Amino acid sequence: MKRKIAIVPGSFDPITYGHIDIIKRSSELFDEIIVAILVNPDKKYLFSLDERVEMIEETIKDIPNVRVDALLVNYAKKVGSSVIVRGLRAVSDFEYEMQLTFMNKALDEGIETFYMMANKQYSFISSSIVKGVSGFGADLSKFVPKNVEERLEKKMKERG
Ligand code: ADP
Repeated sequence: MKRKIAIVPGSFDPITYGHIDIIKRSSELFDEIIVAILVNPDKKYLFSLDERVEMIEETIKDIPNVRVDALLVNYAKKVGSSVIVRGLRAVSDFEYEMQLTFMNKALDEGIETFYMMANKQYSFISSSIVKGVSGFGADLSKFVPKNVEERLEKKMKERG
């Protein structure tokens, strides 16, 4: 039987409990999940691609049907997937997500995008907000796993 592969794309700069929730829930619905990390040369990331891969690998190591990769053009076709899973936090996400879905459809008619409503408990978490409050000695344990919190602290110290 054909395996259903779904892609969960994003910047994951860094991965948060909100992302992890979407990844876990989709791993129960599909045979295989590929967490695909965006590499946009015009965007400034706090963590390098390698660091983001490592952080996600450390975090998802107990989920057997999930792997990580870098997201490049025509990625879905290359890995034999036609499904994208994204999370929706609030109405503010909606407009951007609608544009993204239409763009993906325009690029490849066969792509279907599925949206999962964020878990209420995580719906206020975003990578940018977590980065914004890190570096002040705040307790980030409700937002990101321990390995990510340690890396964030280290990164903030390096940056002074
Ligand atoms: P952002 O869009 O905040 O830069 P990403 O690009 O890393 O974050 O997001 C990847 C995917 O994860 C998107 O579909 C985004 O909506 C979803 N996501 C991000 N944070 C959460 C959260 N707290 N709960 C559910 N989904 C989330």
